[in-house]
Amino acid sequence: MSVLRLSNVTKSFGATQVLRGIDLEVNEGEMICLIGASGSGKSTLLRTINLLEPIDEGEIWFDGQDISLPDVAPQPIRRKIGLVFQSFNLFPHMTAVENVLLAPSRVFKRSKKDLLPEVMQLFEQFNLKDRMQAYPDQLSGGQQQRVAIVRALAMRPRIMLFDEVTSALDPELVSEVLDTLLKLKAQNMTMILATHEMGFAREAADRVCVLDGGKIIETGTPDQIFNAPQTKRAQAFLASVL
Ligand code: ADP
Ligand code: MG
Repeated sequence: MSVLRLSNVTKSFGATQVLRGIDLEVNEGEMICLIGASGSGKSTLLRTINLLEPIDEGEIWFDGQDISLPDVAPQPIRRKIGLVFQSFNLFPHMTAVENVLLAPSRVFKRSKKDLLPEVMQLFEQFNLKDRMQAYPDQLSGGQQQRVAIVRALAMRPRIMLFDEVTSALDPELVSEVLDTLLKLKAQNMTMILATHEMGFAREAADRVCVLDGGKIIETGTPDQIFNAPQTKRAQAFLASVL
């Protein structure tokens, strides 16, 4: 079953066309990796799905609704689409658990006390239980990013979008965040990741999409994309990163 379907999504910034007719269907429980050179449109694509960028043309269907229509209120949609960025953006004056409780308590109008058991369970699942009371500056980058992921999960999203979530991390901290993504995949979370981690995309993705100049120039299984890319542009990109 498809959770998300983009058809002919087109987006310009001024005179620059940044997305040129993107078609993408994401099925329940699928992990899609978006790869491609810097500037190819990966972040913009994720931001349009989360309704942070209006699109010029095309449609975005999410959970059976065309969310690209101008009269759709963005907030209720965004709550169901978790987005985690490269920078963790935790509130520095709040503990990890306070950071995580903030949005769900406001949005679901539930007390923090009432939410605490399920939030604690998330901290436990992602091996952060002993860090719940820590402030962001007392956490490693990897722990901060994992708390940011837990914070998104506390909203019980239908789909998670990850934009270069390991790019700001010291190399030795990358694997703990990638492990978190694998755990989510094992729980059947539907995910789209923009990533430079080719090894991870190769191992973990159900499908890989290669972006180039605002287009998905190739899509396939990791085996197809990494071992037998069809287009010259995808071959050139992969040769530059592998
Ligand atoms: P990627 O994430 O693959 O590096 P981006 O989606 O960030 O690519 O950017 C795609 C293109 O859109 C780039 O040429 C970038 O300069 C341009 N772009 C992104 N955001 C904006 C913006 N807010 N205003 C103008 N141009 C933008
Ligand atoms: Mg980007």
